[in-house]
Amino acid sequence: MTKLKPPVEKNTYYDVTFEDLTHDGAGVAKIEGFPIFVPNGLPDEKAKIKVIKVQKNYGFGRLIELYEKSKFRIDAPCPIYKECGGCQLQHLSYEGQLVAKHNQVQQVLSRIGKLQNIKVHPVLGMENPWRYRNKAQVPVADREGGLVAGFYQQRSHEIIDMEACLIQQEKNDQVVQTVKTICEKYGIQAYDEKNNKGTLRHIMARYGLVSGEIMVVLITRTKDLPHKSNIISDITAELPGVKSIVQNINPKQTNVIFGNETNVLWGEEYIYDTIGDIKFAISARSFYQVNPEQTKVLYDKALEYAELTGKETVIDAYCGIGTISLFLAQKAKKVYGVEIVPEAIEDAKRNAALNYIHNAEFAVGEAEVVIPKWYKDGVKADVIVVDPPRKGCDDALLQTILTMKPGKVVYVSCNPATLARDLRILEDGGYETTEVQPVDMFPHTVHCEAVAKLVLKPN
Ligand code: SAH
Repeated sequence: MTKLKPPVEKNTYYDVTFEDLTHDGAGVAKIEGFPIFVPNGLPDEKAKIKVIKVQKNYGFGRLIELYEKSKFRIDAPCPIYKECGGCQLQHLSYEGQLVAKHNQVQQVLSRIGKLQNIKVHPVLGMENPWRYRNKAQVPVADREGGLVAGFYQQRSHEIIDMEACLIQQEKNDQVVQTVKTICEKYGIQAYDEKNNKGTLRHIMARYGLVSGEIMVVLITRTKDLPHKSNIISDITAELPGVKSIVQNINPKQTNVIFGNETNVLWGEEYIYDTIGDIKFAISARSFYQVNPEQTKVLYDKALEYAELTGKETVIDAYCGIGTISLFLAQKAKKVYGVEIVPEAIEDAKRNAALNYIHNAEFAVGEAEVVIPKWYKDGVKADVIVVDPPRKGCDDALLQTILTMKPGKVVYVSCNPATLARDLRILEDGGYETTEVQPVDMFPHTVHCEAVAKLVLKPN
């Protein structure tokens, strides 16, 4: 048997044209059909690259010289773009990002899902794609001049100070800076990861975009926080929007941010925010979508695809804190939500009550276990909505959908590859994907959300 040798060699230079972007934002060049992934390369660019690693089916390269630039290439607006790594696409104009994300969804659906003639709409992007994140979690360290609060430099444990993050709400930047300065004033020591010493590990800020309410969370190694009452009165004096100051205690030597114990130091346990007509209570540990403006765009689309008239029974699998369930409940007869994290279901129930929604029922458990039980108990769903994590739907859940045969399935996805895989299974089981709408929830990062509408084909 002849062993096929890759047509490229390590430490050799090649002239290439980038054809595509990988799902993590690297350029893809092909040399005699053999793909080489090159960070910073953009589709249509001609460049000289150096191959630095060769595997069996692909290789990695470094960009040496750009001969021809993409019309979408720009200078990244953020001064710390390269060190930080939180964004991956700032060297691509926003228009170019939306084109790239559309191509990615289209290609993956046809390559993995074998859905050739699928209608993928242009990506719904943001009018102003900056300053959108409503939550900041910033690690803290001691330096000679005082405290630094910022981000871990890529591939290191070094914390770099950061005054502004361009995808973060300005308010959150201000909160982090102010809290850092106050803690410095009272001589609070930052956590020292190597020796598991010191006090302050992270500063977290949450901001209600509509309500304007702010929560400050101090994540500390010790329960004792020196000068606690001074710190609290300085924070409330300097940051008038603050409604809640919370301490979370994490004594462990770990890079996991939160510990198990959370105490309210001042004010409320929750801040509130609104998406569409629904109000949400958000605690320090609650899951809450980080881009509420685009969340509304995504869930409005899910609601549109569900085509509710008020008579339907709907199941929301992977319901989290019930965001989609509560949107759906306004237009459906009854909504059942299921989610594996008990605290999220507590939040979902609280949010239902907060909005006087009485036709939503929530259960803790695995979607693939709870939904078949509901089916056995006689629940007949007209629409099933799924919004699974990146790994997609459990096969048992897909099989349950194929048994229950709801007239419609609305699939909200944060990973086009698993969306494609699952759509293929549903198509083979009798559904037709009629349209797919990508929504840009995380501008300047490689992430891409999409919602797909499936209808049961008449047999
Ligand atoms: N629609 C939700 C977010 C969904 S994120 C919202 O807007 O709040 C995916 C959710 O699926 C997470 O909350 C995760 O905890 C949950 N999950 C993961 N595996 C699950 C399973 N097997 N069954 C039910 N829920 C699951």
